Amino acid sequence: MPELPEVETVRAGLERHVVGRTVAVVQVLHPRAVRRDPAGPAGFAAALAGRTLKRAERRGKYLWLTLDDDEALLAHLGMSGQLLVGDPDRPLSPHVRVWITFTDGSPDLRFTDQRTFGHLMMCSLRGDDRVVPEPIAHIAPDPVEAVFDPAVFAARLTRRRTGVKRALLDQSLISGVGNIYADEALWHARLHWARPTETLNRGEVSRLLDAVRGVLTEALKAGGTSFDSLYVNVTGESGYFDRSLQVYGRAGEPCSRCATPIRRDSFMNRSAYSCPRCQPRPRNAHW
Ligand SMILES: [Zn+2]
Repeated sequence: MPELPEVETVRAGLERHVVGRTVAVVQVLHPRAVRRDPAGPAGFAAALAGRTLKRAERRGKYLWLTLDDDEALLAHLGMSGQLLVGDPDRPLSPHVRVWITFTDGSPDLRFTDQRTFGHLMMCSLRGDDRVVPEPIAHIAPDPVEAVFDPAVFAARLTRRRTGVKRALLDQSLISGVGNIYADEALWHARLHWARPTETLNRGEVSRLLDAVRGVLTEALKAGGTSFDSLYVNVTGESGYFDRSLQVYGRAGEPCSRCATPIRRDSFMNRSAYSCPRCQPRPRNAHW
């Protein structure tokens, strides 16, 4: 599943290859891809045709292309969504859901989504400065956004009364932190994933936030350097970042700080990886 760094890689690709261009024709090849758009497939296609793409923006795992001061094309990649830019004459893959061509010809843009959990929709912009699309206005800023406020985050986090990993995955508190980056950040901050948020002191919250930003920034750098062709791609594999993972997927391997074998716990039908020594289990844990 694409996380913030992968989505940012796609955003940067869109900025480079489609921003400033005007849409010619939109073909919706699978209605599920625009299921959230109230205008339906034909309405979606008609509304987007003829529009110029002004900017490529992102919050957490959502990205959008602004069309003017009030409207945007919002994209969520889901589990397997890709926005592919390339030669309009290349073969049409069976997983292309929305096909967008531009008035200046090559290259075109294809929303490809094998599992069809992703979607595109037209929407209005909201907020004080009308910068955030209406459907994601409830999603908190992500920690690498300029508008992210560490003091607000700290106050809301310690009021939560939940486990710290659960809190990190809560998009209404902080967006863009998925399972992998949560485990990595908690290891860097030396905090157990089930640590009750209400027991975190100011220093620990600040250490946690530094760790989250550090992990995301490293992954962004890696994603940014791997993107260098006329091809906007997200596979969700994020192979480039695997080498720097400290705990995620490393059960039984020695912790790079203390050599204690990394432990894997069950967590919300998934896993939580941690070092039993660097991240000791807390009293009154919120499992
Ligand atoms: Zn350790």
